[in-house]
Amino acid sequence: MRVDPDLMSRLDVAAPRYASYPTLADWNGGFEEPAWRTHLNALAQTTAPLALYVHLPFCASRCFYCGCNATVTTRAEVVDRYLSRLDHELAMVSESIGARPYVSEMHWGGGTPNFLDGSQRDRLITMLERRFRMDSNTERSLEADPRLVTRDQLEHLRDLGFSRISFGVQDTDPQVQASIGRVQPLEMVRHVVQAARDVGFRSINLDLLYGLPHQTATTFHETITHAIAMTPDRIACFGYAHVPWMRAHQWRMDEAALPDARTRFSLFAMAVQHLQAAGFQWIGVDHFARPDDVLSRAAVAGTLQRNFMGYTTRVGENLLGLGVSAISEIDGWYAQNTPELGNWQREIDAGMLSLARRHVMSDEDRSHERAIAHLMCNAELPFNLFFGSMEELLTLFAPFVSDGLVQLETDRFTVTPTGQFFLRNLCVTLDAYRAESRGGSRFSRSV
Ligand code: SF4
Repeated sequence: MRVDPDLMSRLDVAAPRYASYPTLADWNGGFEEPAWRTHLNALAQTTAPLALYVHLPFCASRCFYCGCNATVTTRAEVVDRYLSRLDHELAMVSESIGARPYVSEMHWGGGTPNFLDGSQRDRLITMLERRFRMDSNTERSLEADPRLVTRDQLEHLRDLGFSRISFGVQDTDPQVQASIGRVQPLEMVRHVVQAARDVGFRSINLDLLYGLPHQTATTFHETITHAIAMTPDRIACFGYAHVPWMRAHQWRMDEAALPDARTRFSLFAMAVQHLQAAGFQWIGVDHFARPDDVLSRAAVAGTLQRNFMGYTTRVGENLLGLGVSAISEIDGWYAQNTPELGNWQREIDAGMLSLARRHVMSDEDRSHERAIAHLMCNAELPFNLFFGSMEELLTLFAPFVSDGLVQLETDRFTVTPTGQFFLRNLCVTLDAYRAESRGGSRFSRSV
């Protein structure tokens, strides 16, 4: 894919990822903790599917590029104490719900969820199953660090019902790995992925990262080739966000070795081309899946959805987040738990649900959200989903038409192959909270 360099530099601005609308930075505060407790009762009244997200923030060491909410420790008792507080949080949430709702999907994210040992995993599942109904149809997934995986661990996770696993691979080149403080030999990663297949995981995702020090077209092409050869069902190819003023550990990387904006873009464009040539479908933004994967099928059928956990196939799902920094989305109300571990612990110990950010969706939010979500999931904007006048829409999208990012059809704008790279830029135009600024430094680069 050849994209005009001028166009690329004009559009390479900071833009939200639109896992929600409005984005976290624009939430309005909306309600206080007692009102949230009352609102949780909605989960007892609804037939909408429920997803659980559990944040497990612990890691054995710090990767220099890390942008996650993570805490480094080597002590099992630190995890034990966290689980005790999680149990307290679960009890408060469960009491507010006033029922034991069915969970259709559960995801453990981090941090490093496979940092938990066997008894901690058993304990966490028991805690969750005491408060929620889960069965063999509940889809269970987790993120895993290949460096900590053992065959016993994979078998245990399978026995606990996990069938989807996502491995952090990032890059397979030894020099890149050394520069980001995450050395994991290719052979070890291959072995771990194969072991997951062998024990029965039916969906395997690999996370890759472009924009890292010392990455070149040649090294990253090799990384993609290695990833394809491991035959995952999905691949996510994220752009590294260099924000050392917010994540001090990122200073440990050699800034001079970071690829410039043009190289970053060409790395991603190459990845797209390579993955598509290998039969992967570009689901949207940074996600790719095999044609027989449920995400690909939903994309073809036009039923793809997007939530805080990324692309999903479930319509109208409520999401309940547990643990430090976790995000919930329930019946039009958004809430994020406090991201600082110490504060989260103190508030849980004081018998409070620890809410740092909150938002109640307005009617206007909902109409903008429908348009943005449709664009992110279907690469098109039907005129009837636009919240303003036709004249306004034509004016907003006119520059994108002349740049070749969208095409005007009889009843919609469709995104062109070039426009696929700039989906987030298109969405910014529909974002009432930043239509003026077209982005902002709080967000990662759009490419
Ligand atoms: S394993 Fe993941 S969460 Fe932990 S430090 Fe590395 S990148 Fe961050």
